[in-house]
Amino acid sequence: MPQHLQDTVTLNNGVKMPWFGLGVFKVQEGQEVIDSVKAAIKNGYRSIDTAAVYRNEEGVGQAIAESMKEYSVKREELFITSKVWNSDQGTQTTLDAFDLSLKKLGLDYLDLYLVHWPVKGKYAETWKTLEKIYKTGKVRAIGVSNFHVHHLKDILADAEVVPAVNQVELHPYLSQVELREFNRSKGIQTEAWSPLGQGLVLQDTTITSIAEKYGKTPAQIVLRWDLQSGIITIPKSIREPRIVENAAIFDFELSPDDMAAIDGLNKNQRVGADPDNFNF
Ligand code: NAD
Repeated sequence: MPQHLQDTVTLNNGVKMPWFGLGVFKVQEGQEVIDSVKAAIKNGYRSIDTAAVYRNEEGVGQAIAESMKEYSVKREELFITSKVWNSDQGTQTTLDAFDLSLKKLGLDYLDLYLVHWPVKGKYAETWKTLEKIYKTGKVRAIGVSNFHVHHLKDILADAEVVPAVNQVELHPYLSQVELREFNRSKGIQTEAWSPLGQGLVLQDTTITSIAEKYGKTPAQIVLRWDLQSGIITIPKSIREPRIVENAAIFDFELSPDDMAAIDGLNKNQRVGADPDNFNF
């Protein structure tokens, strides 16, 4: 059980990844993303989740460079994730997309690179390309995102490298129990995107009443549920007080009954697209 914001989980290739990080989906390139990433690092976050399609990798890179100087953080203490976008899936296009992400971020290696979505007819070839990139040493771990069990089975049949991570939509209304179990059985770490359901689950009365009982906020309860469930979590906020609030979850523990109550909220409700049916 992680005890501290910077605690890590050891991925299937031995690389250590923080249990907790900042997501920057829909955070504007420029000052907005620079400020939020710097606020996170200043307040002890070490993991940042971006993607080529978020169009904010340059700002993330600038924030990393400034934070290393201003907050005396070393590159090797940070864990930076990016993802290959759907239109870049393939072989040469993926190699080029990876190099462009590195360049925009101003980094000479990434910690984790993910196949963003399982694009039909493309994702298996893209996985092979990530394996090639991994062998160059320019990325410390590779993984996938939005993969259902059948997508995973498909690539595992021919994989030289088992994905280190599967980053999927996961929150109390979509708890993904079967997928988590499959990931676990293959040594793939589950990571939650939209862990707060983009705010949807924060008004839930089960969660608000548990929050009152612990003297914590609903967001803190949901994020703590992730950690106690063995799930990496990357909530997004651009506001420093919320960035601090979201990370203040290492000083309490949900009881087994409260964990079960949150587990019971699942209704397979998505805030994003179904990986079997997306048109982007
Ligand atoms: P989220 O569940 O993290 O919700 C973020 C929103 O919740 C914020 O915009 C804010 O409105 C609200 N919020 C945050 N902290 C709060 C607090 N303490 N109290 C009240 N409200 C609060 O949603 P997200 O940004 O979609 O997901 C998190 C990250 O996951 C993204 O930023 C991105 O990095 C990643 N992601 C990945 C994929 C993928 O396809 N791989 C898709 C979506 C998101």
